[in-house]
Amino acid sequence: MSMTSTATEQTAVLDYRLTAADRCDSCGAQAYIAAEVNGSELLFCAHHGRKYEEKLRAVATSWHDETARLIESL
Ligand SMILES: [Zn+2]
Repeated sequence: MSMTSTATEQTAVLDYRLTAADRCDSCGAQAYIAAEVNGSELLFCAHHGRKYEEKLRAVATSWHDETARLIESL
């Protein structure tokens, strides 16, 4: 008997490009979110990405989210 729910399908982000060398601009943790604002790229960890997401999405010209990698690694 399967308890798996298929109600929420996520859009897969397959072009992972952030590495361990990419660091959150706020705390220095590994970055999983990249936002392009005014032609420069801002990097954030999952925590700060979520924290600033609402404000950033309003001004960002691109939004790159690799936080799905964190879920996969659990
Ligand atoms: Zn951070």
